[in-house]
Amino acid sequence: MQSDETAIAKLFEAPTGRPRLLVVDDQPINIQVMHQIFASQYQVFMATSGQQALDFCHKTPPDLVLLDVVMPGLDGFEVCQLLKADPSTRDIPVIFVTAHTDAVQETRGLDVGAVDFISKPVNPVVVRARVKTQLTLKFQSDLMRKLVFLDGLTGVFNRRYFDQQLAVEMARAARTKSALSLIMLDVDYFKRFNDHYGHQAGDDCLREIATTLKNSLRRPADLVARYGGEEFACILPDTALADAMGMATEMEQNVRRRNIAHHDSKAANVVTISLGVAGYAGYPPRDAAALLALADAQLYCAKDAGRARACGNPLTCRSLICARPGAF
Ligand code: GH3
Ligand code: MG
Ligand code: MG
Repeated sequence: MQSDETAIAKLFEAPTGRPRLLVVDDQPINIQVMHQIFASQYQVFMATSGQQALDFCHKTPPDLVLLDVVMPGLDGFEVCQLLKADPSTRDIPVIFVTAHTDAVQETRGLDVGAVDFISKPVNPVVVRARVKTQLTLKFQSDLMRKLVFLDGLTGVFNRRYFDQQLAVEMARAARTKSALSLIMLDVDYFKRFNDHYGHQAGDDCLREIATTLKNSLRRPADLVARYGGEEFACILPDTALADAMGMATEMEQNVRRRNIAHHDSKAANVVTISLGVAGYAGYPPRDAAALLALADAQLYCAKDAGRARACGNPLTCRSLICARPGAF
């Protein structure tokens, strides 16, 4: 069973092509009928048993399942119940398709989490319309779930998502004994920027910085989030501290190269950021809060040392303390 967080992470994967329907029926002829109805609009996949359907949903979740009720082995109700009990599959809408429709069956179907109940033989127009309605609702709720984890101003992930992913990635790093690094960063003299150029320009600046940071990431698993105000944070799985320091330096340079004028900054005449990096390989900190505190301490070290630079975790890499950009 996948965790809630993995299910959420999957939401952010790029959508691919036409919606995917899984038709589950032990009679191949029934699957054929559905295939004819839907093949022109959707990608249609088939399973001839409950177990096959469950395996398919776990490996390659479809957007909707059309599920026969009466099947040998796991019946449709059991399959639906199992799909709804698992966070990684519970958001896949299930429509029951059955020859035996009565109020008791229909109620049971809805009780186990189905969104609709269609009787066989199916009317192509009706079944198309009902599937379309349920897919629209599914895509709307997927979008809502995504929005809950995005920062409204900058479009990067928000603090809530960051906190969840940090816990997930730390657990993964512990399991696989791999490295993990964290970058905390803060815009330099941003109060002065707002005071000088106005709050609207401040918002634009934050958006530009967020985009720059996002474009500085290299791997699909790396993520940047707005941690709060003018602070951002990055999770870099499988990345040792030295490499994370390299990325932090690049981020500092990339932001500086945007040449956003800041004539009231004491660090430069353009907008700059300060970064704190913490990382480990094999010897994890007590918890996420400890790692965050470490990165935060390094961020303050960067501020103290004059801003517009990256500082690394001195416990694991003394030579990298308060390195000036380009110094390594
Ligand atoms: P330092 O170099 O020490 O980080 O100085 P600073 O001025 O950046 O730090 P301080 O914490 O004093 O000020 C942060 C400023 O960031 C104040 C606040 O108005 C501004 N800020 C926070 N969130 C937003 C936002 O969403 N939009 C805008 N425009 N400004 C914001
Ligand atoms: Mg600041
Ligand atoms: Mg700040």
